[in-house]
Amino acid sequence: MLKVLKFGGTSVGTLERIQNVSQIIKKFRDQGHDIVAVVSAMSGETNKLIEYANNYSKTPDEREMDMLLSSGERVTSALLSITLNEQGYPTTSMSGREAGIRTTDEHTYARIEDIETKHMQKTIKDGKIIIVAGFQGVSAENGRVTTLGRGGSDLTAVALAGALEADVCEIYTDVDGIYTTDPRIEPKAKKLDKISYDEMLELASLGAKVLQNRSVEMAKKLNVNLVSRSSFTPEVEGTLITKEENIMEAPVVSGIALDKNQIRVGMYGVVDKPGIASSIFTALADANINVDMIVQTRGLDNTTNLDFTVPTTDLEKTKNVMVAFEADSDKIDYNDSICKVSIVGVGMKSHTGVASKAFTAMAKDNININIISTSEIKISMIIDEKYAELAVRSLHDAYQLDL
Ligand code: ADP
Ligand code: ASP
Ligand code: MG
Repeated sequence: MLKVLKFGGTSVGTLERIQNVSQIIKKFRDQGHDIVAVVSAMSGETNKLIEYANNYSKTPDEREMDMLLSSGERVTSALLSITLNEQGYPTTSMSGREAGIRTTDEHTYARIEDIETKHMQKTIKDGKIIIVAGFQGVSAENGRVTTLGRGGSDLTAVALAGALEADVCEIYTDVDGIYTTDPRIEPKAKKLDKISYDEMLELASLGAKVLQNRSVEMAKKLNVNLVSRSSFTPEVEGTLITKEENIMEAPVVSGIALDKNQIRVGMYGVVDKPGIASSIFTALADANINVDMIVQTRGLDNTTNLDFTVPTTDLEKTKNVMVAFEADSDKIDYNDSICKVSIVGVGMKSHTGVASKAFTAMAKDNININIISTSEIKISMIIDEKYAELAVRSLHDAYQLDL
């Protein structure tokens, strides 16, 4: 069996933890499996490197950022390889480039274009364990190192599992699977045995960082058997992320997600004329800003009010873009003390009363809802950040997710 195993930041957070990971790999190797392991940087390392760069510049050159950030994963991949070799297990580490991962040249959030697996295939055939530095590739266009967006080692693992046609892709982290909500916020959260790709994709996109959303999207596309489990308790079975038809009866609501990294941009008294929304959101898209909730309401005197949310990390870029639209409105403001709570479940498609239950739960705790948006399998609400955890727990109770 070919297994792709991914170990996240906390799983390789110390020299001792790296040693622990080597035990997990050795166990599978002793069972006769071929192993490709993907590692993250030590926990906190990527943030530390970003801070170093921001010390000199608030908008550092993105190619230089990729050079800097890709280093964290190289450290852990080499260390893990060194300890496995020392223990008598022939192992080689590979950077994204050596693993054949070719990407677009969109530095700091590059997309994988293709993977040339020849080198890896030969190395596996030669009987070696491969340790790939996650989160990185090489631009097919300019040959420079690229990174795949925060949490991108998950994507490396899934993409390699797809390209190598691995039997399974196991993502090891510090929780033993996917829970009904972040177990750090709601200790009553329950572990799910299985969850559909679509629900996991929504949860991940809406803030549940246990899996990177792009990795889930790719797992669905390439039909990868994806498992989320813990390197701290590797004996415990994790959660399988799979096709909806493999889940006998899905609950109406599967989980609650929280995203505190959102900023609400408000534009008041916007001149009400055709084309204004188009020009604002085209400019934001051109700057690669990921706009999420958009709400436009009628104001007085032929004006409108426009609210939308963007990730906290894009605040500076957003402000720069919005300068061009200052003349089109009375006022633009930025509120970073908000958060987004979301309810996700495929069962929503066929059940009524799901949304009203959420609003009633918020009312009961006196939490004011600023913006609401819904889609087929999710309901999201923007609320004051100080109520974030309370809202998650109230919703968890309201849908009885602990039962
Ligand atoms: P890694 O460093 O291994 O990539 P992350 O910190 O990115 O790990 O993701 C794991 C964390 O995700 C957990 O510690 C947990 O707090 C959080 N999390 C958020 N939502 C969920 C959820 N629904 N189920 C499990 N964990 C969740
Ligand atoms: N080290 C990178 C990050 O923190 C990638 C990863 O851990 O997946 O985002
Ligand atoms: Mg992660």
